[in-house]
Amino acid sequence: MTQHKICGPALHVDSAAGARLKLRGGQEIIDGISSWWVNTHGHCHPKIVEAVRAQAGKLEQVIFAGFTHDPAEKLTRKLLSTVHGTFEGKDGSALDYVFYSDSGSTAIEVALKMAIGFHENAGEQRHKVIALEGGYHGDTFGAMAAGSRSVFNVLYEPFLFDVKHVPFPKTGEEMRSLAWLDKWLKKFGSQTAAFVFEPLVQGAAGMRVYSPKVLGKMAQMCREHGVLLIADEVMTGFGRTGSMFACEQADFTPDLLCLSKGLTGGFLPMGATLATEEIYKAFYHDEKAKQFFHSTSFTGNPLACVAALASLEIWDEEPVMEQIAAIEASHLKAAGWYSARPDVMDVRVKGSIFAIDVRDDVNGYLSSIGHEIYDFMLANGVLLRPIGNTVYILPPYCIDQQDLECIYETLWRSLDSFRNDCFQQAA
Ligand code: PMP
Repeated sequence: MTQHKICGPALHVDSAAGARLKLRGGQEIIDGISSWWVNTHGHCHPKIVEAVRAQAGKLEQVIFAGFTHDPAEKLTRKLLSTVHGTFEGKDGSALDYVFYSDSGSTAIEVALKMAIGFHENAGEQRHKVIALEGGYHGDTFGAMAAGSRSVFNVLYEPFLFDVKHVPFPKTGEEMRSLAWLDKWLKKFGSQTAAFVFEPLVQGAAGMRVYSPKVLGKMAQMCREHGVLLIADEVMTGFGRTGSMFACEQADFTPDLLCLSKGLTGGFLPMGATLATEEIYKAFYHDEKAKQFFHSTSFTGNPLACVAALASLEIWDEEPVMEQIAAIEASHLKAAGWYSARPDVMDVRVKGSIFAIDVRDDVNGYLSSIGHEIYDFMLANGVLLRPIGNTVYILPPYCIDQQDLECIYETLWRSLDSFRNDCFQQAA
């Protein structure tokens, strides 16, 4: 995701704590994007550091096929109780089984394979997959196939399996998406294995927000046709949108829930695909050929497990939801100021996420305005990494008010300086 010919040299990070990165030479930078959306409780949270340190001297890694260990068992119990607590009473079956892998992309690959295999093992040939237009699910081939076709994957398009995309339910255009889905399901519902979506916020598409109501409706329509719901909560999971998981706000439990990034608090790589008992049972058989064939060498890695367990315990011990609510309140205030700027369009806030689109001749990923803002922000001690002309703030939940205000203020100055430059050039 870096064009080396036009980007400057990489910055060398020596250490990090809380919401700040420390560069070689001593300069501090506020991590305004949680190091690519992974960090939740701040860098080097002492509880996670201690858990990983203690585990490293005991058991660092072991094959997880035919073997198990305390970190995986304890994490699984804790993760399931968190998920059960979140989705209690929501439409859908309980998520009772977890498959561990090592990234968001692999969590998606696993979910796709489970969905397709589930139907095959039940003797139903469902060879179609649908996904939400604009979605990004990672860069492995299945994940790219599920994602929208874009500059990210255009080179590989001939190699991607066919996925049909439900029009994005932009505010005010929800009926168009529902009508498309209704038509599709009437025609192909019985051939469709799964619906893949990022609930409520599409991250890489530029923090595009849509309503829980339309998501709930789409989920219900898919369910009526036996289409499995694959929720990609790799970015939205663990509090990003203001609730533990985004699907919670749309009042349903997905059949497959993909988690990564914030699962370990952003400390170590780990993916998890949660599934219902019905899906688990489709592979539970006397015949070996019916088992779920997928392995990841580092599945259930003990260090990642203890990091994730410590991270989930922090949710119980520290006022994390209050931190998120405070960030959202600050974002909403900032949204008021930014909405008044003529060079800014479409200001949005969802939980800990704040996003604006900056007016430019080129919209989308190839707009160059993002690079200029990136450089200006870094020169002023803030890491933001715009997606084209979309600039967003997605901080670790531990960020203090002062740092948060510094981000809004620096971004404001960045837009001012950019506008002044444009005026000068025009003159
Ligand atoms: N799904 C979503 C919604 C994501 O935002 C990402 C990564 N940005 C992925 C999947 C892929 O995760 P990873 O980079 O860990 O493979």
